[in-house]
Amino acid sequence: METIITSADFNRELISGLSEESRHAVMNIILRGQALAEDPRRLAQEIRPLIGLNQRQAQANVTYRERVYQRFIERGLSPSKAAEKSDAAALRYAGKQHRYRAETIVNTEMAFAYNRGAHMSVGQAIANGYMGKCEMVWTTAGTNRVCSRCMELRGRVVGTTEDSGVTIPPLHPRCRCTIIYQEIAPAKALRPKPQITIVNYEDVAVIRSQKEFLMFANQMKPVIEQYTGRQSKWNGRIILKDRGDAISGKCWDCSIVLNPNAPDHAVIHELVHSCSISYYNVMMFLNNKFEEELSVEYLSQELAILKNVPVVKSDYNPGVELIREFKAMLGVEKTDIEFASELIKQPLGERWDWLWEQISDKINPGTSLELGQQLMEKLEKIRQWVI
Ligand SMILES: [Zn+2]
Ligand SMILES: [Zn+2]
Repeated sequence: METIITSADFNRELISGLSEESRHAVMNIILRGQALAEDPRRLAQEIRPLIGLNQRQAQANVTYRERVYQRFIERGLSPSKAAEKSDAAALRYAGKQHRYRAETIVNTEMAFAYNRGAHMSVGQAIANGYMGKCEMVWTTAGTNRVCSRCMELRGRVVGTTEDSGVTIPPLHPRCRCTIIYQEIAPAKALRPKPQITIVNYEDVAVIRSQKEFLMFANQMKPVIEQYTGRQSKWNGRIILKDRGDAISGKCWDCSIVLNPNAPDHAVIHELVHSCSISYYNVMMFLNNKFEEELSVEYLSQELAILKNVPVVKSDYNPGVELIREFKAMLGVEKTDIEFASELIKQPLGERWDWLWEQISDKINPGTSLELGQQLMEKLEKIRQWVI
């Protein structure tokens, strides 16, 4: 596939003539405006003080002033009167040129971010198995204002999602073209495959002595302290008591209560609580129950995998799954255990805020606004998740 011109090339040229500082200010205004879906005309007004006229516009202004001057002379005005009038006309002309340049920068920058973002989202959806390989079809705005270069590309397949270096719009300043992604192969999977294997409690239940439980708990305690960043408040006692479906629990005196056949995963879960909710009180627990339980269970699952003990199904699984999906969509390089660890290190009541921050950190020139929207929807589901 031939590369005509890369967007980045002309982009650099477009805001040329600006100091590095103004260029940053312009980019910031545009990015913020995009995130807040502001009216491009308002953004153009905002960036106007930061930009001047480009070379061509300045030259055009000089020419305009000269022509106007000549016309006034032809009409019999004195040279001084003609100069005064043509100066005023050139100034009004400059105002219009200035507004036009500001709008060009805003429109083109937005088109640039939009198209690059859309391209990245599609790539991500394909990588996650939600979409198959696509053909990239060039589409124009479809009016008679389309330039001849874009008209030539109209409806043409310019590449596939597997090619690198395919030209995407904008092709030139004020280009309003976009790419349509047409699937030509089936998606790898309708849903991402479950990331971890979860077993039923009954299938791994073994009755153990208090001594055996204590040994495992004492062995896990330092590991859990490391991943939660807090010292465990566990008082060292384990009470064996059959509580049926509840399997395990933690008393406010920080003893751990376990069914005699509780799995290791349950011991880990209660120990993680001893490094989290045990720093607070009952009111804090009631007000943030699912924030606590989901962040504790997410890390507990990861620690069970780390220690090679079976991950056991619990009522919290669908909620934890949402966090896993959120993390996968975020596309961060951190592993799940690192992500779960950072999450639980946040104070209780602020863990979902930390997830919000992950979204805003993600919104940068290369991100599509759709991805931001999807992340926000996922987080809203996490926040409202209850049993
Ligand atoms: Zn175009
Ligand atoms: Zn719990």
